[in-house]
Amino acid sequence: MKASQLIAPTLKEAPADAEVPSHILLVRGGFIRRLATGSYNYLPLGLRVLKKIENIVREELDRAGAQEILMPVVQPANLWQESGRWDVMGPEMLRLKDRHERDYCLSPTQEEVVTDLVRRVIVSYKQLPLNLYHIQTKFRDEIRPRFGLMRSREFLMKDGYSFHLDEDSFEESYQAMFDAYSAMLEKIGLTYRAVDADPGNMGDGDSHEFHVLAEAGEDELAFSPTSDYAANVEKAVAPRIEDDHAVEEMATVDTPNAKTIDAVSKLLGVESRRCVKTLIVRGESEPVALVLRGDHELNEAKAGRLPGILRPLEFASDEEIIAAITVSPGSIGPVGLGLPVYVDHSAAALNSFVCGANVEEKHHTGVNWDRDAGHVEPVDIRNVVEGDQAVDGSGPLAFRRGIEVGHIFKLGTKYTESMDVTIQDDGGNDIMPIMGCYGFGVSRTVAAVVEQCHDENGIAWPDAVAPYAVHILALNAHRSADVATTATAVYERLLARGVEVLLDDRDERPGVKFADSDLIGIPHRLTIGDRGLKNGIVEYTHRRTGEKEDVELARLDEFLNERMSGSA
Ligand code: ATP
Ligand code: MG
Repeated sequence: MKASQLIAPTLKEAPADAEVPSHILLVRGGFIRRLATGSYNYLPLGLRVLKKIENIVREELDRAGAQEILMPVVQPANLWQESGRWDVMGPEMLRLKDRHERDYCLSPTQEEVVTDLVRRVIVSYKQLPLNLYHIQTKFRDEIRPRFGLMRSREFLMKDGYSFHLDEDSFEESYQAMFDAYSAMLEKIGLTYRAVDADPGNMGDGDSHEFHVLAEAGEDELAFSPTSDYAANVEKAVAPRIEDDHAVEEMATVDTPNAKTIDAVSKLLGVESRRCVKTLIVRGESEPVALVLRGDHELNEAKAGRLPGILRPLEFASDEEIIAAITVSPGSIGPVGLGLPVYVDHSAAALNSFVCGANVEEKHHTGVNWDRDAGHVEPVDIRNVVEGDQAVDGSGPLAFRRGIEVGHIFKLGTKYTESMDVTIQDDGGNDIMPIMGCYGFGVSRTVAAVVEQCHDENGIAWPDAVAPYAVHILALNAHRSADVATTATAVYERLLARGVEVLLDDRDERPGVKFADSDLIGIPHRLTIGDRGLKNGIVEYTHRRTGEKEDVELARLDEFLNERMSGSA
């Protein structure tokens, strides 16, 4: 490709709404352009990267025995009504009507459609296990689309679904998908981590997320530096922290205007870890109280799974709280509360703590559970924090941020049951197949690669997904016939060998060409200028390491061969 013809409009300035490097650099480098909130046009360079990632995903899934299909983006409502999700999906699902006023949605995911397909094409247990995937546009009306391709509304996802007669068969496919995801990310050239994850509202079985490690990641990961243990903070098991504080008498004290743990802790001179906070959330029949140590944060995913609590978790409004317990937030506590209470392990381990007295502007001090607040069965409802021990006993947890690019989990029989898929096994018994579900964000991965592979000058694509392998910069070619003919000859030769090459033949100053080349990040650069050519030399630069080398023209092909096979 010749740059003079390529639509790759580079920009000096970042777009005003861009906060993270991948968004800034993909727009500045002319890879993508915004159409509307959370939707992007892919320009030729961006599309090339997207397709490369897509192909790596496809290769690894095909190798693992999955079969590619293609399902529609516009889905009829009746399938979603059948599974019971039409009413529970909420505003993330974009709904529309056709000319006959029939309801449809734009695919946010594909469980219903694939389950419907399978019940119509599978006639015998001999056809299972079956593992189907497609790579298709998804639309989710995200509450906060942001970070360019990372959290968009329209995006490209690979979603896969497997169907099994028994658990063993499911486990085998799950492991095969786990391995395929690992292989994909390695092939792309990313540093990643597979972590235990919360399956969300999709089930309660095994679930793993694949995270590309990067500062801009929206998720926090906790892992043990000395073992295999790694989990999304949403899921990481929090240890119980013991307390050896002496048992004191309970007392009630005035705490005027002290509505937060910070304020109460300052006013009473008691560390925040010895004060408990009592949060009120919506429950199935009545509000439910959640009690944590003052220095700990509630983990909404964990709490949302507890019996009696509405899922997803929602906090009760001030009005609902006052209606239920006649005291406003800031003075609530577990002593004589009169609501169902869940207490986190570390709050339950405290002796002689401070809590709201359920009377406006009053707190209790020296509270002890069994004696004053009744017996509690502790639960894990907090986020792990710096200093917590890993649940496998391997030592303190470390923390990193990650971008979730893949999520694999067990669906069980949720859809085969609700959509009535039965198959007869070899003994003639009706069986409901067990399903697995495997998602991979193809377009999000474009952003994840940039987050991990960039510097202050621009992107540095790994070879496997770079839009082109070689970038030839012809310096001042309009003034030097030698430069023009040599650059064209090298370009033609590389093309003939099947190398993906971009020739910067534009009438731009060398400074502009260098800056654009750094920005768009093609791994191998050849700079062809008059000065070097006088000595029969072109300059090679490796984008990622910055390493430069003068190469004799006669040796160029051989040199590039070595370089392109030896670097990632
Ligand atoms: P998240 O927690 O980031 O919202 P999710 O749990 O909703 O993700 P899944 O439904 O498991 O995601 O979708 C599978 C994959 O699709 C994700 O792992 C991610 O890579 C990608 N994905 C999900 N939502 C988006 C989005 N808004 N923009 C780009 N990619 C996305
Ligand atoms: Mg989501």
